[in-house]
Amino acid sequence: MKLFSTGKWYLAALLNVIFPSVCPVCKKRIFSVQEALCRECFTNINLTLAPFCRYCGKSKGFHDRRCDFCRPEQYSFDRALSVCNYTGTLRKCLHMLKYKRKVRLATELGSLMTRFIQAHLNIREMDIITAVPLHKKRRLERGFNQAEFFARKTSEFSTTPFDFKSLIRVKNTRSQFELTKVERFENMREAFGCKHSQVFTGKSVLLIDDIFTTGATANACAEALKQAGASKVTVVTMAR
Ligand SMILES: [Zn+2]
Ligand SMILES: [Zn+2]
Repeated sequence: MKLFSTGKWYLAALLNVIFPSVCPVCKKRIFSVQEALCRECFTNINLTLAPFCRYCGKSKGFHDRRCDFCRPEQYSFDRALSVCNYTGTLRKCLHMLKYKRKVRLATELGSLMTRFIQAHLNIREMDIITAVPLHKKRRLERGFNQAEFFARKTSEFSTTPFDFKSLIRVKNTRSQFELTKVERFENMREAFGCKHSQVFTGKSVLLIDDIFTTGATANACAEALKQAGASKVTVVTMAR
């Protein structure tokens, strides 16, 4: 097994010499076979900083009460947290992942998420991991749901099982881009449902998504999960 993985590493290193990989963000050459981004771009990822709001995860929030951002809201999820701020490098990465399947980049971001979860949440309290689903049509167009990919990575390190079949998108919602906060919540209303509700009954669910903006998407998913009997829904997004 060890021999095999060493062999694989040499092959990857050799391929990297013949076909040098470039950083997808700045196009500079990458010398390490394990990295998807160059050092500079990776360190430019703007991580969120604790303390986080106990409810929506906003940085510099209060640990015990709602921050100004989420105070007016009644979310269906119990708690949300985000790994990075949606700026610069990370913004470009998520955009690239959305339209081009870049598995190495997704893996690197996925491990960033798993490290964040290890540091800030007790994964052993979660019974099942799921991801915000794409509508069937969009899933076919893109062929890749990055939220699901991140959720898979989280499941791998934690051994908490995942399920990506039971929470489904029943409404092909229009893009949230340029919608106001109220319109986003309206757009997402009843957009999700649970096909096999027993999967979530009485369970503490970890819901993964790529971006948290107003919380409308996470909220709509959490609503469907709670209707299916989930006892708790914790949301983790890559960015906000
Ligand atoms: Zn770079
Ligand atoms: Zn908050």
